[in-house]
Amino acid sequence: MTKRVVLIGHPVAHSLSGAMQQAAFDELGIDARYELWDRAPIDLADAVTELRSEEFLGANVTIPHKERVVPMVDRLTEEATATGAVNTITREGRRLIGHNTDVAGFKVALDKLVGRQKMPKQAVVLGAGGGARAVVYGLIREGFQRIVVFNRHLHRAEGLVKHFGRTAAHMELRAMPWHESIIEVEIAKAKVLVNATSIGLTSDVSPVPAAALNEELLVLDLIYSKTRLLRDAAAVSATTSDGELMLLHQGAAAFTLWTGQPAPLELMRSKLAEARAGGVRSAEGEPTGEPAVAAAE
Ligand code: NDP
Repeated sequence: MTKRVVLIGHPVAHSLSGAMQQAAFDELGIDARYELWDRAPIDLADAVTELRSEEFLGANVTIPHKERVVPMVDRLTEEATATGAVNTITREGRRLIGHNTDVAGFKVALDKLVGRQKMPKQAVVLGAGGGARAVVYGLIREGFQRIVVFNRHLHRAEGLVKHFGRTAAHMELRAMPWHESIIEVEIAKAKVLVNATSIGLTSDVSPVPAAALNEELLVLDLIYSKTRLLRDAAAVSATTSDGELMLLHQGAAAFTLWTGQPAPLELMRSKLAEARAGGVRSAEGEPTGEPAVAAAE
């Protein structure tokens, strides 16, 4: 029986995960199909219940469900507990295990961004969703001493700060309201700027004014394309990275969790690059449940 792995999100049409995961299954001779499930929040619980059946190896969970899915699984790994967010689900019998492989993916992306410099200590994080939780956890683990989180809905950033209470007890983790002038002041004090909002995903806008950026900054956008933010940052000679490396490594870790096999990283990297070049992310309104590889065609 062909096994199924699904990406549950809303929307999911921008996703590049299918291209790399399907190629990896095929390369290793694993009889599995990666599908995109566009599910609104109200349908999430039903989608998760479906995963308990034998035909599923597991799932990826993406925007906007990573936090909402936490109480719907039976057990959380250490990283999923620490972040309060799940991006990968595996199945043990009828039990579902929630993992967070974004944490591992973010570490690779941060190390590449920082390069041979000393690891900085101050960061500004834009966004307080599931992705931001992996980012903040990763920064705390790297020894950052001051992290300021801005979010459109302040209460969500405050919830994030509260969640990390004990983990962040030795350093300064603050939630701040989304005001341009405050963001500018904080960016001027920080070395690392991470965009973990979805601003820039479907339209060519930046979460911050170009004037707030400077050449000393290391700027990471979790979105896997050359967003307006990254182009503005490059224009002032800041160091920039997009979310592709994080996507690749969170995906490779998920692949290993589902299959028990090492991921064919180079193949996945080239399939991601191909899918990007093919413009998969612009395929809005794609029918749900289609194999993602079809979307790349
Ligand atoms: P969530 O839905 O959990 O969070 C979305 C975030 O974006 C929230 O902070 C939300 O703010 C903010 N946001 C959305 N629209 C606006 C807007 N118009 N103005 C201001 N803020 C806005 O999503 P995720 O955390 O899962 O994902 C966030 C982004 O990170 C996505 O683009 C996703 O693709 C990317 N990502 C990439 C990964 C990778 O591997 N490269 C891994 C994880 C995420 P509010 O709470 O106020 O609504």
